[in-house]
Amino acid sequence: MAAADRAAIDRRIARRFRVRGVVQGVGFRPFVYRLADTHRVCGWVINDGEGVDIHAEADARRLLAFERALGADPPQASRIASIEARPAPVAWFTAFEIRDSGVGAQPTVRMTPDLSICPACLGELLNPADPRAFYPYINCTNCGPRYSIVQALPYDHPHTTMAPWPMCERCRREYEAPRHRRFHAQPVACAECGPHYRLSTNGELIDGAAIAEAARLLREGRIVGIKGIGGYHLACDARQADTVDALRTRTFRKERPFAVMVKDLAALRVLIEASAGAQALAGSPARPIVLAPAQVRLPGVAPGNADLGVMLPYTPVHHLLFEAGAPAVLVMTSGNRSSEPIAYEDDDATARLAGVADALLVGERPIARRVDDSVVQDGPFGPVIVRRSRGYAPLAVAALPATTPLLAVGADLKNSITLVVGGAAFVSQHIGDLDHQAAAAAFDATVRDLSAMYDVDPAALVVVHDLHPEYRSTERAGTIGYRRIPVQHHRAHVASVLAERGALDARVIGVAFDGTGYGDDGTIWGGEIFAGSVREGLTRVAHLREAQLPGGDAAARMPAQAAAGFLASIDGLPDLTSPPFSLPPQYTAACRLANAGVRTFTTTSVGRLFDTAAALLGFTRPVTFEGQAAMWLEQRARGSTRSGALPFDWDGGAIDYRAALVEIVAARQRGDAIRDIARGFHRGLAATVARAVLELAGPHSAEAIVLSGGVFQNMLLLRELARALSGSPVPVWTNREVPPNDGGISLGQAALGACTV
Ligand code: ZN
Ligand code: ZN
Ligand code: FE
Repeated sequence: MAAADRAAIDRRIARRFRVRGVVQGVGFRPFVYRLADTHRVCGWVINDGEGVDIHAEADARRLLAFERALGADPPQASRIASIEARPAPVAWFTAFEIRDSGVGAQPTVRMTPDLSICPACLGELLNPADPRAFYPYINCTNCGPRYSIVQALPYDHPHTTMAPWPMCERCRREYEAPRHRRFHAQPVACAECGPHYRLSTNGELIDGAAIAEAARLLREGRIVGIKGIGGYHLACDARQADTVDALRTRTFRKERPFAVMVKDLAALRVLIEASAGAQALAGSPARPIVLAPAQVRLPGVAPGNADLGVMLPYTPVHHLLFEAGAPAVLVMTSGNRSSEPIAYEDDDATARLAGVADALLVGERPIARRVDDSVVQDGPFGPVIVRRSRGYAPLAVAALPATTPLLAVGADLKNSITLVVGGAAFVSQHIGDLDHQAAAAAFDATVRDLSAMYDVDPAALVVVHDLHPEYRSTERAGTIGYRRIPVQHHRAHVASVLAERGALDARVIGVAFDGTGYGDDGTIWGGEIFAGSVREGLTRVAHLREAQLPGGDAAARMPAQAAAGFLASIDGLPDLTSPPFSLPPQYTAACRLANAGVRTFTTTSVGRLFDTAAALLGFTRPVTFEGQAAMWLEQRARGSTRSGALPFDWDGGAIDYRAALVEIVAARQRGDAIRDIARGFHRGLAATVARAVLELAGPHSAEAIVLSGGVFQNMLLLRELARALSGSPVPVWTNREVPPNDGGISLGQAALGACTV
């Protein structure tokens, strides 16, 4: 032994590190092992119920270098929440080892989301000489499935849906080699030992051959169901209009836009106007669907829609399909009919997709839970998550001060749930609209699933729910837990932004604009401005001027019906059933209800105000999905280069839309271009909202302006607001981790609930 080494041993000290965060299933232990090797540190590393535990021994200089490197360059998929270090007794280890996972007490480790295939695995997949060439289940510690295969924590092979496939010699060698990137990659497999893909129409073909046949069917204009990471997709050639049409007919989806998949970023840039931010999102390991203005017309794919949702391949199967000559632009839409949840179990998929798909490409590895594709947009304040699922769920998105396990059950549309345990808020994947029986069942399953994963007894939960007494989620909350806390819908929207930022004490002006939510006074809210903080409570200080809503929430389906209510208080309007307006008979009927005060409700909904403007500008038919009329209005407006703003008024407590609506009617009668009027509507509303929040910020000592609610998925409105607020002395905060729509409600409920218990 060299003298220097002996001296180093003499000066040996030991430290214990506790690493918390997303640190299991991401190659963290191999990473620690390699670091220890580099810095000649002895000791061990282990996964346990709290994260990663490390015992490290070396001289002070080496130990310091090891400690620095630990936090500096962790594995790509990991997210370190904290590293705690404390002195430990020296045990004179002579090497560094990875120890097997113990069984933890309460697992508060953060399960990682599913990741797209990494460049190294992709290289092997497409290299004919590689032992895993063309094998669709190739993965390593840097990539592959996680959340969609895990059945219990800690995350180890027997706890995943890969348990039925024990590793062969070669796979095990890699799994056990500390320097290999498959070291402790739980789902590691190869064609010899692992599961296979098969085609329903020809059971003889497996893996590459089955995929090649599927690619051929797609080229021929057939519809193929493809099992992916979190469920089945329905795929077809996006440039064969008859096939796209057939897919719509067979799935009963009239207008809901389909997403498409293309081979790479170059192909994506052809299809959509993709900003640098949008491209970064599309290529991120989460591989979400990115929404952006379409540059190519694909008939029937997103009818009447100027935007297109595009994603890049994320499983080996997708890459193999393109390699095998699948059409260059593939429709890839959730395998279901209408708005049911995506199919993910093989028998269920076979039953539900029979008559829709001409063939099914079925992988044998079971999917532990349904995880849809995520949907994002690149906005002026950063990414806007429209649907948060694959690649993001179930990451913890916030730390909340709940001392007891807490479950927030969200709202009824775009439902997600949030479980708070050990102070970390885990937001579930997108569950869906609870009106659908299958989504209601998925809700129950997700409550059971998350509780079981984090070892929480559902009976021991504090349950936070929406104030709406008739929401299904409210009803369901009554059957779980021992204590229930109601939270008003729009306060939850504002709180979701503050929870993400860990700013529970920040005093803010919070704007919550959406379609509908149950207000404190039982009326239909949706255009609310609050002052206060999550900790001290949010007080409603302003709102959209009240309007009537004939038919209540049912008016959401018929923009002309909302228009009747919003126009009821305006005198001297022309006959809107004749040209150029040509509003349908439902308008006249709704006017009668509004005038008689029969089945008419009070609302402050900005969503319905957008519907009203859309109806006046030509969207006179019923909507076929939520938010459709507002999207239509935004897309018309984007075509305009005019800079005029419609006159909205602000009186210190209410935003008044009447003058703006009168101006829309006059402009249409004058024959102004629809796109210019639509643009003026956005600009006028944004300018007035900006004026309102800036005026309120001072007197309420606000540190920030918060924007949330489904209306803020409107990129044009956000851009206009960004411009109007560019000189604001206080920052503008929007959602970054959860959707501004009702998919983010559960996080806001959890934050407000945590401050109540
Ligand atoms: Zn990999
Ligand atoms: Zn193998
Ligand atoms: Fe909402």
